[in-house]
Amino acid sequence: MKKGVVFVVLAPSGSGKGSIIQQVMGQSAEARLSVSATTRAPRPGENHGEHYWFVSREEFEVMVKNDEMLEHAEYCGNYYGTPKAPLEKWAEEGFDVIVEIEVQGAAQVKKLLPDSVSVFVLPPSMEILEKRLRDRGTESEEVIKGRLETAKLEIPYSQNCDYAIVNDHLEDAVAELKAIMTAETLKKNKNDLIKGVM
Ligand code: 5GP
Repeated sequence: MKKGVVFVVLAPSGSGKGSIIQQVMGQSAEARLSVSATTRAPRPGENHGEHYWFVSREEFEVMVKNDEMLEHAEYCGNYYGTPKAPLEKWAEEGFDVIVEIEVQGAAQVKKLLPDSVSVFVLPPSMEILEKRLRDRGTESEEVIKGRLETAKLEIPYSQNCDYAIVNDHLEDAVAELKAIMTAETLKKNKNDLIKGVM
């Protein structure tokens, strides 16, 4: 059976990761998307269980205590974490799993799952990142400033990732992420593919 690969997609807030992942998921029958838990409030249009599991700080802390999280981190004043059970089930069933997280969580995943593949989605420039955060119109000035400062600290981590892609044109970024997923899945399944014909 095909072995699933865990893809960790890192993207500072506002880098457009949502659109890239939505398109990649729409085009990849073999991929599953991990839904994180967070203590931040839903933005307009975000649904519980689809974009995030929106939980209270108390609920989040219980999940961590019960060892239900693969990784978790505090980001701009809110907790975010990856529930362990669905990810393990999908990987076992042979699906590729996309986990979309920030750098502290990504560093934890790399240690726990050394075979996972990390992809950093860079904005074309800091100016464009700022514009995207402002155009979204969902956050206060203070939150936007905090997210920009955090992005500046996060971007150098792209050096440690297996891949970096620039989200300038959405279609190109989608094609690049899909190409990475295809190549890494073929690499991981090489021996089984060879055995299958001999
Ligand atoms: P946002 O609030 O803009 O949806 O996400 C803020 C940051 O949290 C983003 O960088 C996003 O990648 C990250 N994030 C989302 N889910 C998780 C998670 O489960 N774990 C960690 N460590 N970061 C997450």
